[in-house]
Amino acid sequence: MFADKLILRIPGPTPIPPRVQQAMARPMIGHRSGQFSELFARTAERLKPIFGTKQDVYILAGSGTSALELSVVNVLASGDEAVVLVSGAFGERFAKICERYGIIVHRLQVTWGEPVTPELLAPYLAERPQVKAVFATYCETSTGVLNPIRELAQVVREKSDALFIVDGVSCVGAVPCEMDEWGIDILVTGSQKAFMLPTGLAFVAVSERAWKVIDSRTPLAFYLDLKAYRKSFADRTTPYTPAVSLVFGLEEVCAMIEEEGLANIIRRHELMRDMTRAAMKALQLPLMTADAYASPTVTSVNPGEAFDPEALRKTLRTKHNVVIAGGQAHLTGKIFRIGHMGYCEPLDVIQVISAIEISLRQIGVDVPFGEGVKAAQEVLVNHV
Ligand SMILES: *Cc1c(COP(=O)(O)O)cnc(C)c1O
Repeated sequence: MFADKLILRIPGPTPIPPRVQQAMARPMIGHRSGQFSELFARTAERLKPIFGTKQDVYILAGSGTSALELSVVNVLASGDEAVVLVSGAFGERFAKICERYGIIVHRLQVTWGEPVTPELLAPYLAERPQVKAVFATYCETSTGVLNPIRELAQVVREKSDALFIVDGVSCVGAVPCEMDEWGIDILVTGSQKAFMLPTGLAFVAVSERAWKVIDSRTPLAFYLDLKAYRKSFADRTTPYTPAVSLVFGLEEVCAMIEEEGLANIIRRHELMRDMTRAAMKALQLPLMTADAYASPTVTSVNPGEAFDPEALRKTLRTKHNVVIAGGQAHLTGKIFRIGHMGYCEPLDVIQVISAIEISLRQIGVDVPFGEGVKAAQEVLVNHV
């Protein structure tokens, strides 16, 4: 097998387009140079439509979790109360970050595989008027649920004065996102998922409402102090050394996004979701999420007793150079997850489905060859 043909179908890190890889190989430049400032300013500007915001989008060096932590520590402090919507491992991570800072957390939990709905949130929030923020996960990567963020935002806006803070790490750049219009106060994402970059950049946009809260306090953080990012942003840079090479790559990603167009990118991801799901249904492999809440970026499958998903993953990896993800937390060893985001197109989905069919046969599961592939082909060909 060719090591450079590794077929990476996990929900991040995702494959890097060659032109982005090349951009990142450029020689280093001074991070306080005019050249960097210009690159930084024009690149940050191009993130706004992806977030659906007129606000500045701050770029920091850190994995996605650094941005989650930033969004907690800049608006809340020990003793404050927050509602955290927990539909899987990443919602739980938000809750744990809050608890680490002494914030009193009200977890609105749903069974993994299900979304948090506005019908659940409205009464939950009404009973807790003291909460200062509501934290939500847009795509819950651990289950493949796309939570109804727009409708959840509406509930928060109408029923409370709380800030609405959203983790968009595994979907912003691949799904509709209208931060300003929907009423999201802080939206964060990272570089290694739909943004087609290595891990290492985190992006944060902040509403005017949220700035009022942030400006009224001093956070228990130094590196993650948002006010420092805003101050440096005005000087077209970051407070601490930026990840220059990743910003070179980001500029190229922005060009790719503009060339394809956001609406087309969103449609491509929906198509890949529909193809993947049609294939799993045709192979009678139970999906973890209902169609209505299925994420366009990642699909989770729970085969139950039919076979061991870890055996499938091992065969895919060792015999075919294909990497898919397993389950997290209590779903470890129980499910598999197919990532289909970023630098991934419909024929790549056909490839991974075919590899799954072959690998299932190789681990002794009696699958009818071509049924999954055929179902996906039908979806593709009927796609308008
Ligand atoms: C990947 C991911 C993160 C961030 O994880 P890091 O490993 O810190 O980059 C956060 N939230 C969601 C929903 C994710 O999928």
